[in-house]
Amino acid sequence: MIKYEGMIKIVKPRHSLAGKLILSVSAAMTFGSLVFGLLFIHFEQRVLLKAGFSAVEVDRVMHSDMVATVVACALFVLIISGMLCIILYKLVSKPVAELEAGMIRIAKGDLDQQINIDSKDEIGLLAKIFNSMTSDLKRYRQDMENWTNTLEDEVKKKAQEVIKTQDELINTEKLASLGRMAAGIAHELNSPLTGVVTFAHLLKSRTPENEAQAHEDLQVIIEQADRCSKIIKGLLGFSRRTGFEMAEINLNALLEATVAMVSHQARFYNINFTLDFTTGLPAVLADPNQIQQVFLNMLLNASDAMSEKGAINITTRPLCLDGKDMIETEFSDTGPGIPEANIGKIFEPFFTTKPVGKGTGLGLSVSYGIIKKHGGDILVKSGPGKGASFFIRLPVQRKGEWINAKSAEHIGH
Ligand code: ADP
Repeated sequence: MIKYEGMIKIVKPRHSLAGKLILSVSAAMTFGSLVFGLLFIHFEQRVLLKAGFSAVEVDRVMHSDMVATVVACALFVLIISGMLCIILYKLVSKPVAELEAGMIRIAKGDLDQQINIDSKDEIGLLAKIFNSMTSDLKRYRQDMENWTNTLEDEVKKKAQEVIKTQDELINTEKLASLGRMAAGIAHELNSPLTGVVTFAHLLKSRTPENEAQAHEDLQVIIEQADRCSKIIKGLLGFSRRTGFEMAEINLNALLEATVAMVSHQARFYNINFTLDFTTGLPAVLADPNQIQQVFLNMLLNASDAMSEKGAINITTRPLCLDGKDMIETEFSDTGPGIPEANIGKIFEPFFTTKPVGKGTGLGLSVSYGIIKKHGGDILVKSGPGKGASFFIRLPVQRKGEWINAKSAEHIGH
């Protein structure tokens, strides 16, 4: 802050003006510790006499009108120093205060405001540099925020990928251990079960024809044992202990044959098939029996879900995933779809929503095992009331071999 300090005194100097009365008025202006204005006005008797004042007048000024002269001089000094104060305030103090306020704003993180000083002097230059520094800071801060957001998104994406991979690993491990366990159980159960069936048949053949009740009971034993056999076959299929017989297969042709096979069965009479095949698909190296088992399972599940009435659409299309050529077969139905809560469970062994005796819960887990063994994948998309879509992806084993598959056609009933 600028301060004004003034002094008025009457002195008797010791040297040249010895013995002469002198009126001295001084004023000083300070800014902090800096003194930037100093004003002295001396009125000597000698000077006043030289200026043409008479000795009497000088004496009057010096003695009689002392007070009036002092006040006049003081006023003069005050006005001059006041004007200097105003000029200095406008030129230095105000811009410096504005710069100071700007720095405080920046320190608090407000980079939006600029300092309006247009002067061409050093302070104006300082303000210009300060404004450009604020703009640079603002730009860097924006860049930093954008970069942080991108980084956060990347981290989130990677974390989700890690969680997904972990889930897949856990699932694969779970299926692998279940497979080993299933293989062991199936092997252990197979021999006693064969014995049960064989002896039930023997007993039935030895039972007299007139014992109808005994025949009926034995027939139940045989049927139930057959059911157990089927489950065991399913378990063996799931555990992949049965060998593969690989061949180059035309998926479109295999699908057509599978549809033709089921469409003669009563449970498919009221189901409308639509085949939407991409022609000229490359051959796939796979076990045709195993792949047909998967296709059959898809059709049976769709038929069950639709209570044997509705539509099944089968589409084939080429795909390229991570540089790998694949063929995707899509099975879509018009059934009730799969509830969200069940989507993650349907590939688990023994998961079924079908009534006891109808479903074993092995169809999809066996299919999953078969497709994975072929280096492929099964995906499902569904929502309640929207039907279900299963996507079976198989890798193209031999590139460049194109088969003339039949073009898209429609088989209706
Ligand atoms: P299962 O047919 O013996 O029940 P799966 O493993 O083949 O065993 O199927 C498991 C479950 O997945 C079925 O019980 C059913 O709930 C569900 N599911 C499979 N396919 C479909 C489909 N197309 N629509 C609705 N639900 C389905």
